[in-house]
Amino acid sequence: MSNIINLKIKAKYIQEYQDKYPLIQKEILENIDDLEEEGTVINLITSNNKFVARGYYGQQNKGYGWVLTYDKSEKIDTNFFTKKIKESIEHRKSFYEEAEQNITTAFRVINGEGDGLGGVTIDYFDGFYMITWYSLGIYTFKDMIVDALKTNVENSALYKGIYEKKRFNTKGQYLENESDFICGIQAPKPIIIKENNANFAIYLDDGAMTGLFLDQREVRKNIRDKYSAGKTMVNTFSYTGAFSVFSALGGAKKTTSVDLAKRSLPKTQEQFSVNKIDSDSQEIIVDDVFNYFKYAVKKQYKFDMVVLDPPSFARTKKITFSVSKDYVKLLKEAIQITNKNGVIVASTNSANFGMMKFRQFIEKAFRELNGRYKVLETYSLPKDFRVCNEFKEGDYLKVVFIKKM
Ligand code: SAH
Repeated sequence: MSNIINLKIKAKYIQEYQDKYPLIQKEILENIDDLEEEGTVINLITSNNKFVARGYYGQQNKGYGWVLTYDKSEKIDTNFFTKKIKESIEHRKSFYEEAEQNITTAFRVINGEGDGLGGVTIDYFDGFYMITWYSLGIYTFKDMIVDALKTNVENSALYKGIYEKKRFNTKGQYLENESDFICGIQAPKPIIIKENNANFAIYLDDGAMTGLFLDQREVRKNIRDKYSAGKTMVNTFSYTGAFSVFSALGGAKKTTSVDLAKRSLPKTQEQFSVNKIDSDSQEIIVDDVFNYFKYAVKKQYKFDMVVLDPPSFARTKKITFSVSKDYVKLLKEAIQITNKNGVIVASTNSANFGMMKFRQFIEKAFRELNGRYKVLETYSLPKDFRVCNEFKEGDYLKVVFIKKM
């Protein structure tokens, strides 16, 4: 059983939490030294002991834990998690229907605080559930949450098993586990999931990443269905090549994928091959994107589409890249290798700035090159990546389709 403690909120922050801000931040707490073990249940109270909210202690880069309920009578137990997961599954009814029809069989079931469960996400991959724990604090509720998940899904014909990823340390880095398997049947390595009828090889028990970022699903579909036929494209920061695969499936003349990581080469080849595309007909380059841009500009390469989807922060031997500092520079390079009337797909998952600021980066890049452009479409998180109004930072994804005039 978890410990429970009462912690006072400083007066000036009380309103914010009464208005249901879900993240427990260090600076709002009066008697912080009373916090010892992660996983301790915290009652946030006013200076005259009035109940405000109940959550748990768990250190993450984002804060000191998350509020789970504003109802004083609600206990944090298996029942609580069962109810939360049930409600979240109901919210994804249309996704389960698409899974049954074998159209898309990978989506998010619990999106942390967006579903009222900060610090944990649960993704669905063709009958397997992948739980990601973002703090030791939430991990102390593992048995309750796994039981609650089982109660909700075990009897479904689709259910196969449960896996986990621990990303405890404050940087959200993955902790090596002998195996990430929890229960049910063991998944093949890889499993092949469907995304809008395309195939994708997913590894549930092979380190930090599964191979696919589910939040870009709609962007990939859009690239395939509307922007690829007969076009050339370059996909920078390509990881396992998901954007390239969708572009090739949409009839691209040729795709070029560029990523620094050596493993991106075989991983990308694999994703082409599970879609019956000969990867030899596509270009896959292992290189620093900044090097590649220099080379491409020098060679005067031009593409009909350039995809830019960098990590928010990356450090290589030579340079440190941070989106808010370097996106304009990146865009300027991309503009130079885009054909007139070509399209740049500019994407960022940085929670540090919003769409307004991102649009300003785009404006600045074109202005500095005396170029003209038109924004064709914008995308944010898909519906399964549920966000709550009280925590705007959770709505991190920004994607802009830009036409170079
Ligand atoms: N766009 C991808 C996800 C990108 S993840 C997708 O939709 O699937 C970020 C990727 O950037 C990682 O694969 C990492 O290896 C790569 N990366 C980071 N810094 C890089 C750099 N300077 N040059 C090339 N690739 C880089």
